[in-house]
Amino acid sequence: METIAPFIEVIDEIKEAGGEIFKMCFQCGLCDAVCPWNKVRPFSMRKLIREAAFGLTEIEGEDIWRCTTCGTCPAQCPRGVKQIDVSVALRRVATEYDVFPASVKSARTARASLISEGNPLQGERKKRADWAKDLSVKTYAEGMEVLYFVGCYLSYDPRMKKVATATANILKKAGVEFGILGDQESCCGESIRKTGSEQVFKDLARKNIKTFIDNGVKKIIVSSPHCFHTFKNEYPEFMVNFEVIHMSQYLLELINEGRLELTGEYPQKVTYHDPCYLGRHNNVYDEPRDLLKQVAGLELVEMEASRKNSLCCGGGGGRIWMDTPQKERFSDIRLKQAEKTGAQVLATSCPYCITNFEESRLNLEYEKVIEVKDITEIISDMI
Ligand code: SF4
Ligand code: SF4
Repeated sequence: METIAPFIEVIDEIKEAGGEIFKMCFQCGLCDAVCPWNKVRPFSMRKLIREAAFGLTEIEGEDIWRCTTCGTCPAQCPRGVKQIDVSVALRRVATEYDVFPASVKSARTARASLISEGNPLQGERKKRADWAKDLSVKTYAEGMEVLYFVGCYLSYDPRMKKVATATANILKKAGVEFGILGDQESCCGESIRKTGSEQVFKDLARKNIKTFIDNGVKKIIVSSPHCFHTFKNEYPEFMVNFEVIHMSQYLLELINEGRLELTGEYPQKVTYHDPCYLGRHNNVYDEPRDLLKQVAGLELVEMEASRKNSLCCGGGGGRIWMDTPQKERFSDIRLKQAEKTGAQVLATSCPYCITNFEESRLNLEYEKVIEVKDITEIISDMI
């Protein structure tokens, strides 16, 4: 392994990512105090920033892969340091040198699958719309009211396909003229970008943008906060600007416009988990809660850390594809926080959160203690 080149590249990459801003760090350690990693094992973003400032990062180590990009420390840093940009820049260097610790190797499998099939789950591209086969969901055509961008997990993952089905049923019930792109849809690219594979992100983004333009897409509704974030905040880097609405916002809109009527009762105590990319990164805190409040009989209770203090599930920043020992899973802690409220249901609105929470539910043997649901699954029970 060459030694000097990575040092120089680390500095160059970081300058490109955030100018000189990381040098303003005065090593106060607040980032470490708020980072969820320190609830499960030691990790110092402060140290990473210091080493990076001198180009002295060990790119072979695990630490550059830890940050889940949850957004907690950037929001608290007194010096406006862009910790996430620094982490991603370091990962770009490691990716360029093809240096991956064992726990990160599975992210390479996800990358290979993204390149060949357009999704990280090793699903065949031609099977992307199989979930919708029996639902008579249309393919998007110019002039339709909205494009439903389904996303990878909802297209391929057996648990998440239930959320796609619930969503399609609600949209149909509300009379929304919507279509999907089927095998023309590719991963939005948000998470692979955070692992440092910038070119893979750009290729995916360009492919989607071309498909949107070729099909005359104007308004996009999404289930995943990761698609939401990247369409809204990152695709404009390609000089495009599509209207993007998260499903929690869209369903509330449909109810407020009188297009979607909820019936029956849902006599359950529910607590809502704010996904990092919907809450902290995009300030969507109220709509999911307002939507749940529309459900008769539902009692909404808050966990000890909610809204901007919500605890990350551990799945952002590409960590969803990396190996995390069970004792180090934030999602286990979150499930315990949910259980403490006495809620029977932990509701959320992100495929990564649901995947991690369902796994923790099994690990903690909480199957009879609490259910995990996407908010669309609750709404679809009420139509
Ligand atoms: S919170 Fe900001 S200033 Fe303090 S150590 Fe972390 S990056 Fe540096
Ligand atoms: S963004 Fe979140 S996970 Fe990353 S270092 Fe900051 S607090 Fe930790």
